[in-house]
Amino acid sequence: MRIVQKFGGTSVGSLERIGKTADLVAAELAQGNQVAVVVSAMSGETNRLTSMAHEICAQPAARELDALVATGEQVSAALLAIELQNRGIAAYSYSGGQAGFVTDSKHERARIKDIEGDHLLTRLQAGEVPVVTGFQGVDEQGNVTTLGRGGSDTSAVALAIAVEADVCDIYTDVDGIYTTDPRIVPKARKIERIAYEEMLEFASLGAKVLQTRSVELAMRYNMPLHLRSSFEPVAGTMVVQEDDSMERATISGVAYNRDEAKITIMGIPDQPGIAANVFGPVAGAGINVDVIVQNVSEQGYTDITFTVPTGDYQQTMDIMRRLCKQMDARDVKGDDSVAKVSVVGVGMRSHSGVAKDMFDILAREGVNIQMITTSEIKITVVIDEKYIELAVRTLHSAFGLDAEDS
Ligand code: ASP
Ligand code: MG
Repeated sequence: MRIVQKFGGTSVGSLERIGKTADLVAAELAQGNQVAVVVSAMSGETNRLTSMAHEICAQPAARELDALVATGEQVSAALLAIELQNRGIAAYSYSGGQAGFVTDSKHERARIKDIEGDHLLTRLQAGEVPVVTGFQGVDEQGNVTTLGRGGSDTSAVALAIAVEADVCDIYTDVDGIYTTDPRIVPKARKIERIAYEEMLEFASLGAKVLQTRSVELAMRYNMPLHLRSSFEPVAGTMVVQEDDSMERATISGVAYNRDEAKITIMGIPDQPGIAANVFGPVAGAGINVDVIVQNVSEQGYTDITFTVPTGDYQQTMDIMRRLCKQMDARDVKGDDSVAKVSVVGVGMRSHSGVAKDMFDILAREGVNIQMITTSEIKITVVIDEKYIELAVRTLHSAFGLDAEDS
């Protein structure tokens, strides 16, 4: 097999951890596999470098920030290569540029345009282990660029695609994706196989295991991902194309996000363009709007309710108060103690009545639903934050996700 192994910050966080990581590389080689490695910076390093730059000035140039933080991955790649060489393994470190990662020029959030993977493929076939820095590339002018926080995942998937690997192993400090947060529900189970689309829903719901872009990329090229622990030698979660077995279960997991605040702008004179008027300034401020509900207009007036991350609540309220006057709306109300809970599963495509079941379950517990939104494989409700644990626990159990014993 040809494998790309990606190691996150905790897996290269100290020389001792780098030693353990080298064991994992050596084990795959011993099985006769070809291995390429992608590494993150040592844990905490990207933050440390960024804050040093910000001690000098409030807004360091993005180009220099990229040049600076890219060194974090170079350190861990070189150290791991040294560790592997010390064991007699032909391993060589490569920066993003050396590995052929060409990106656009948008510093701090660059996108990979192309990977000239032929060179690395030849090295792999010769039995060498390329150790590639994640998170970075060079643009067409040769400037160092980075892919956005968490970008090493995307580097690993892109490399796996470029060298036509059989699987991309993502080693991290958790041992897989669970049916829900085990801190809330001790009976949560590890999911053996999850569809890319489900994983995307979990990722965007705050299960910050993988950079969302890496999952989108893997889905587009059908590259299997194996999410696993670098601390424990157990099978993790395979993220793969949807298959029949997945449809048998109605839902695969319950996700939640406490980081939500709700804002309602009421009594807006209803006419074409109002939604654009409301969300234009919010988008302009770089704020991500999540759930949106606009009700039917009554006597020419309408209400719009939406959620934003809690950290953006005050700023969004200020924008809405200004808009309220400009648009001649009646009032603005907000609540920053709401949370979002979702049931997710590709099985929903073939099972009907999931939404009704979810609403029944919550009603029985006396949980009031404030907003609802759905997709083909997800039903989301916004509720009072104080009920979030109750909601997650009850839904998990009612949808039959609890482990038998634990
Ligand atoms: N080191 C970068 C970060 O901390 C990239 C990564 O780890 O994926 O965001
Ligand atoms: Mg990460």
